[in-house]
Amino acid sequence: MDQRVTDQPTLYIGGWLEPGNRDMLPVENPATNETIAQLPVASIADLDRALELAAAGFETWRAQPAMARSNILRKAAQLLRERRDIIAAAITREQGKPLRESETEVSNGADITEWFAEEGRRAYGRIIPARQPDTFQVAHVEPVGPVAAFSPWNFPVSQAVRKIAGSLAAGCSIIIKGPEDTPSAVCETVRCFVDAGVAVGALSLVFGRPPEISSHLIPSPVIRKVSFTGSVPVGKHLAAMAAQHMKPCTMELGGHGPAVIFDDVDPVKAASAFATFKYRNASQVCISPTRFFVQGAAHDAFLDTFVSYAKGLKVGPGSDPTTQMGPLATSRRLDFLENLVQEAVAAGAKLHCGGARMGNRGNYFAPTVLSNVPDEARVMQEEPFGPIALVNRFSDEEEAWRRANATSYGLAAYAWTKDAGRAARAGAKLEAGMVTINHFGLATAETPFGGVKDSGYGREGGSEGLEAYLITKFVTLRPYQ
Ligand code: NAD
Repeated sequence: MDQRVTDQPTLYIGGWLEPGNRDMLPVENPATNETIAQLPVASIADLDRALELAAAGFETWRAQPAMARSNILRKAAQLLRERRDIIAAAITREQGKPLRESETEVSNGADITEWFAEEGRRAYGRIIPARQPDTFQVAHVEPVGPVAAFSPWNFPVSQAVRKIAGSLAAGCSIIIKGPEDTPSAVCETVRCFVDAGVAVGALSLVFGRPPEISSHLIPSPVIRKVSFTGSVPVGKHLAAMAAQHMKPCTMELGGHGPAVIFDDVDPVKAASAFATFKYRNASQVCISPTRFFVQGAAHDAFLDTFVSYAKGLKVGPGSDPTTQMGPLATSRRLDFLENLVQEAVAAGAKLHCGGARMGNRGNYFAPTVLSNVPDEARVMQEEPFGPIALVNRFSDEEEAWRRANATSYGLAAYAWTKDAGRAARAGAKLEAGMVTINHFGLATAETPFGGVKDSGYGREGGSEGLEAYLITKFVTLRPYQ
């Protein structure tokens, strides 16, 4: 086992590093705003060392048979499961979500790792019939090369794992910049891969000043692929930087999920299901449904049920087993959310509950429901990334699709109806990378995950999640004559 040198979060670059004289960043508990850890900042020398190791680690790791890599990833999945409770506690301590949600996240991380362990063994090529005799033509896949990845704070484990397991399964090395707000669970996750036997240099973990890290890693000739999960503005900035250096990207950015509920379904049942789903992780979820369009007569019952669920939610520290919704992960979003609500109300929306922070200790924001929200209100256009639900009435189907598609985002979309024709049209008409109809079926290890429009490009789950780290090479061969 590769022992950590400290119980504080730290960098992993060829080994766990002592903080030494590096700058330090405080890490907060969002339930109390207390500083609970100090995180070392990677220096330029650290990043150069990580790049050097990634170049060498790529050669070592890609040379291992796919089966050997698969066995190591399986072992990592097993360690994630064995260490679930420790890792989940670290998520809750720094990110704030209720402990049972953290436990589910770690289990999902193990599932994703196992999926990629399997899928990495199925990176097939194909033989292409040649035009001339005695000629052998093959299109085969190779790992794209060392990856620079940037993972976010909302799901510290499962989002990091999508990038780590995907790139390692393909035979790539990876330098991952973890989220500075929630570093400890990422350290523990990386530790599972290291303890499972991932080759030195194939995986490095850095933290620090994000712009400094991305502007050093992305242009480096060592790096051959960029993967980012986070906000649209940062994603566009990194994609532009990668384009200057001709590096392919996977960009998993924000969303502003529309949910279309037709009047042929039970509105009370639909509202209960959506409200439970909506406030998971205090809605700091890129696929969270936020703009609810409810048809005619179903609207009032849907709204009443949703509001009473939101009002009854128990908000508190994630470590309390009775808590249903924790604090926001960072205080950065509190003012932004309050402003969004106030502007919507000024524009004519009706506020049914919430709309403001709760107390003055911890980053608590009350579960919020607004109705009759004008389509032009900022909250209908900008992703809240917080516990705000917007409920509006619609009358006919064409109106529903038009309003659902009227943002620059296109990540997840939802529709509930008994009508098979409408259900099929929902799949076709909603502009989103993922559409889930009459259930919540997104983000499993084996299904593609990603967006269209400003929500980004590339996919992280399913077999597409492996392809993101592969290139196709065509080789044609004829015996020498
Ligand atoms: P932000 O835009 O400051 O940062 C978003 C993420 O990008 C963070 O993880 C941050 O560390 C990273 N980042 C910022 N600048 C960077 C740079 N120059 N190079 C590399 N990485 C950089 O916003 P925030 O307050 O941290 O998060 C809120 C916003 O982020 C929301 O609008 C939400 O849409 C988005 N977000 C999306 C997801 C997702 O799953 N798609 C996850 C987390 C955050």
